[in-house]
Amino acid sequence: MRYLILSDIHSNLAALEAVLADAGPVDAVWCLGDIVGYGPQPNECAARVQGLPNLVCVAGNHDWGALGKLDLATFNADARAAAEWTGRTLSAANRAWLDGLPERVRLEGFTLVHGSPRYPIWEYVLNPAIARENMAHFDTLTCLVGHTHVPAIFQEPTRREPRPPAIELSLGEPFRYRNARAIINPGGVGQPRDGDPRASFILLDPDAGTLEYRRVPYPIEETQALMREAGLPPRLAARLSYGI
Ligand code: ZN
Repeated sequence: MRYLILSDIHSNLAALEAVLADAGPVDAVWCLGDIVGYGPQPNECAARVQGLPNLVCVAGNHDWGALGKLDLATFNADARAAAEWTGRTLSAANRAWLDGLPERVRLEGFTLVHGSPRYPIWEYVLNPAIARENMAHFDTLTCLVGHTHVPAIFQEPTRREPRPPAIELSLGEPFRYRNARAIINPGGVGQPRDGDPRASFILLDPDAGTLEYRRVPYPIEETQALMREAGLPPRLAARLSYGI
């Protein structure tokens, strides 16, 4: 079996298509929220995600922001402008679909949330200390999160390793996730923030208990041109070139 784990598409269809092409045929797709926000193609991305095989999807803060389900005063000016544009642009059908997304899903030994298991919509699991605090807030072996747009693995402390460091995912080397409880982030599809502008995702093999981390280039300038046409904040387009 092959599951595609992705997060933070952010209305970037070119990045999403590159990920889907690189992943190839998969048995299921698990999406960790922020399908929309920042980027120029919210309806196209929402429709594409809804059509993916055996989709399981949770809501992110930008999905809620576009729907008016949270106070946009908590967003920075650019994010707020993009959320308002997204809210005006989304079709009624896509709004209804986003509105129905759960905050948390538990299946097959995994917990899926956007932010953290403690605060699924908002909290960023940025470092091992925050990850340690969150270990008691899920009861599965693995918790999959997005939101930071930075790929990482945070393992549960053990007696031998009471303060485990974050594990950086390495390309081309399958990682055995079954060896320890962990919070795992696949990185961002549509707006990576780890200094690498390529779209980031994970392929999971639940039979082998391994995951494969991948990065794939996409035509960034296509997304940036659509952002200019839509009148979205120029800084949001510029950052895609740098992966920040
Ligand atoms: Zn996001």
